[in-house]
Amino acid sequence: MAAQEPSPPSSLEGNKPGFPRKILANKLEDKHLCNICQKILRRPFQAQCGHRFCSYCFNKTVSSGPQKCSACIKEDIFEEPTSILKQGCAFPDNAAKREVEALEAVCINEGCTWTGTIKEYEATHEGQCDFMIIPCPSCKELLRANELERHNERECPERTLNCKYCKEPFHFKNIKAHDEICPKYPMICEGCAKKKIPREKYVDHIKLCTKFRTPCRFHVVGCDMSVEKEKIHDHERACSYEHLNLLLHFIMGIKVNLESLQPQSLELASHKIQELHQSLRELELKMGQLSAGAPVQGACAPPPPPPPTLATSFTPLPTAVGAALELQLHSEKTKVAELSRRCQELELKVGTFENIVCVLNREMERSATTMEAYNRQHRLDQDKIDILNNKVRQLERTVSLRDISIVEMEGKMREMSAATYDGVFVWKISDFSKKRQDAVAGRAPAIHGFMQ
Ligand SMILES: [Zn+2]
Ligand SMILES: [Zn+2]
Ligand SMILES: [Zn+2]
Ligand SMILES: [Zn+2]
Ligand SMILES: [Zn+2]
Ligand SMILES: [Zn+2]
Ligand SMILES: [Zn+2]
Repeated sequence: MAAQEPSPPSSLEGNKPGFPRKILANKLEDKHLCNICQKILRRPFQAQCGHRFCSYCFNKTVSSGPQKCSACIKEDIFEEPTSILKQGCAFPDNAAKREVEALEAVCINEGCTWTGTIKEYEATHEGQCDFMIIPCPSCKELLRANELERHNERECPERTLNCKYCKEPFHFKNIKAHDEICPKYPMICEGCAKKKIPREKYVDHIKLCTKFRTPCRFHVVGCDMSVEKEKIHDHERACSYEHLNLLLHFIMGIKVNLESLQPQSLELASHKIQELHQSLRELELKMGQLSAGAPVQGACAPPPPPPPTLATSFTPLPTAVGAALELQLHSEKTKVAELSRRCQELELKVGTFENIVCVLNREMERSATTMEAYNRQHRLDQDKIDILNNKVRQLERTVSLRDISIVEMEGKMREMSAATYDGVFVWKISDFSKKRQDAVAGRAPAIHGFMQ
């Protein structure tokens, strides 16, 4: 019977079709059936043809106009106008009503032991049976009516619940997630075991709770202990040797790290500086080679900035070992400061060198331009030299021609000097009488001709 369709709610208005046939405890008689819904008559009406109908079934049928009585047709007694069903031509059949209502009935819902008359069934049991099957209004699961309340409160997956702590309503599916964030959710302090601390007050509580365990202050250097707040001083006193050991390991680790760090960064910087030096020298060399090169500016680094100070505060340690450690730490700090100062100086120098390289590059460009101008001039000069060379060669040709004519003339001269002529050579002697007298007197050699 679980699959039976849910019964509609009870009403005395007669706005329902007939009762289910199965509620009859005794034998079913056809005269008790509605000729429309074929169930047990509810508030029967009798039409002019004599057939009975539930008041609901009749009204529903004639509401859209007069209809032929299907029972009359079935029984082959159809005749107009008596077999036509229409509004106002049927009357309540109180005799049939009394007869039907007096019939013995049982409840059809599985598990229900109710019995009574149909009148009682309609008045007190129909739609109110604890065993009727109805769907849950939220999840639509089919349930017995008497299980609905429990289902709604505890089982329905779609039910809404008020949070036990903050009283806000939540969908059942979300209530677990809400527990994780509910500000009123009761927490238990792990230290003092105090219960029912609302979540929103928990942080304040553990700040003040002296029994709450917190990690030891030395957990940064490796102490794994967590200690109740009120016992933290006892722990630090009792474990000072272990703490110092951890500290020493920690500092040694730092030292190793520093040492492995130092050469790397410094080497890199010095490498870079060497490279810059190299390129600077090359540039200077090139500049020297350029005849019109601009004077090379001297490289000088500006003074380095003051070294940065490492501001770190350490709480002093109580014992002599602590002092020694602090000393060690201090010297490490100084080394680190010195290293970072040197790094900064180097960085500064690198910057300066980069600037110089920049300037030199500019000079190089300018020199290259000048060089080009000179090259052009040189080509022009070369052309002029070529022209002059040509002229010199022409002149040389002319000179050699002259030489030839001179040689020819010399030849002619020699020929002429070797030639003899028949004739009288007249030689005029000036101051003849004086020279004769001198010759006679022996003062001067005599001219050959005079002696003849
Ligand atoms: Zn009916
Ligand atoms: Zn009829
Ligand atoms: Zn029942
Ligand atoms: Zn449900
Ligand atoms: Zn809540
Ligand atoms: Zn506590
Ligand atoms: Zn510790």
